[in-house]
Amino acid sequence: MATSDRTCPSATCTPGNQLLGVKGADGYVRHLRTALTIDADFVETASELGKPEARMRFASTCATSGCAQWTGTRCGVIDHVIEHLEQVKVPLAPSIPPCPIRGSCRWYDQTGETACRACSLVVTDQSAIAAE
Ligand code: SF4
Repeated sequence: MATSDRTCPSATCTPGNQLLGVKGADGYVRHLRTALTIDADFVETASELGKPEARMRFASTCATSGCAQWTGTRCGVIDHVIEHLEQVKVPLAPSIPPCPIRGSCRWYDQTGETACRACSLVVTDQSAIAAE
């Protein structure tokens, strides 16, 4: 699998990945000040309440061409997110959140602060939302 020196901010809940943020009661993700590396115990406990990716955000090394979201030159996820928010007229956050991975984040690298202003609205696993 191809990898890069960039970090994916919408990864799976897998041992070795990092906990990046937790969704609050208002639906917005709160980024942690320090990303925490998760282990198998964390994954097991977090999975007891359903898919962790519906309630938390995780980070891992960007897999580039090893990921279905890679367009060939960039990550398509944040482009879709920003386009969707524009379509449904959801405003971006007025400021950027503190973030422990900004120095290597794939989305920030591609789209700058606009990505960060959309980031707290991103839920990696949308299946629960789609089922509502
Ligand atoms: S888009 Fe911005 S706020 Fe979101 S993970 Fe990347 S650097 Fe952090």
